[in-house]
Amino acid sequence: MIEAKKKFGQNFLKDRSILNKIIQSMPKNSRKLVEIGPGLGDLTQELLSVKPLTAYEVDEDLCVYLRGKFATPISEDRLTLVYADVLKQFEQGSLCDEPYDLIANLPYYIATTIILDALEDQNCKSMIVMVQKEVAQKFAALPKTKEFTSLAILAQSIGSASLLFDVPPESFEPRPKVVSSILKIDKQKEFIEGKFSGLFESKEQLKAFKRYLRSSFQSPRKTWLKNISSEFNKEVVQEIMHDENLPITIRPHELSVLSHHLLFKKLRLNDARKRDTTTAD
Ligand code: SAM
Repeated sequence: MIEAKKKFGQNFLKDRSILNKIIQSMPKNSRKLVEIGPGLGDLTQELLSVKPLTAYEVDEDLCVYLRGKFATPISEDRLTLVYADVLKQFEQGSLCDEPYDLIANLPYYIATTIILDALEDQNCKSMIVMVQKEVAQKFAALPKTKEFTSLAILAQSIGSASLLFDVPPESFEPRPKVVSSILKIDKQKEFIEGKFSGLFESKEQLKAFKRYLRSSFQSPRKTWLKNISSEFNKEVVQEIMHDENLPITIRPHELSVLSHHLLFKKLRLNDARKRDTTTAD
């Protein structure tokens, strides 16, 4: 009998109907499949009926259990079980050396960090992840709603994000205190290679965009102008807003994802020009 460990965020999904719904939501393609946190292997078992996969598990006791339970698929190379902390794996690079889809019932305590890491992982092409409902709502939020903040903008700068369905606490053992939801993020080619290319062309650029978002949303109730002026020259911001016909009272959540891209690019361009002038002087 394996006891669930709180420190690893272990809530095992026991509801067969939910497992089936996750399987039905999987993208139909020939890409590699990666699971984070196989736990007792209930989801893993269902995934294996669709295609081979690689699974990362941080709990050594569970790895021992899973090696016994899945001895055959492991020996046939249909399951690669990696005993590792997935956050460290992301630090070292990708979870897979080929394009892959991510499926996981994520541990709540690091779910947001894992999603952000997977968004940045170029090889990760889509994810279907179970998270706390509030987290799913933040990533899938639409502009002009109060949940629309940096997380939605980051996810929707790279692809489309949607909340597929909710999962009640009774579906797990032990029961969590919160409702969960299945979040789907599909990275879209045109965001990465098409008209928005340049925004994420380097780690440095992405870091700068995250800094821009942090100051844009530092006080979500205040105007975007007030927030962003802590990072960029207020007169320059006002000039750009005037050019773009934006009211100076607009709040950060009222700007669309594309508007945030555009404003970020214009502010960066202005900064670069200023740097060039200073160097030339
Ligand atoms: N997939 C199983 C299921 O649906 O029943 C278990 C899900 S449980 C919410 C989260 C799983 O992630 C646990 O197996 C836990 O040990 C694992 N986990 C927690 N932190 C991890 C980390 N940093 N790296 C890899 N796995 C982790």
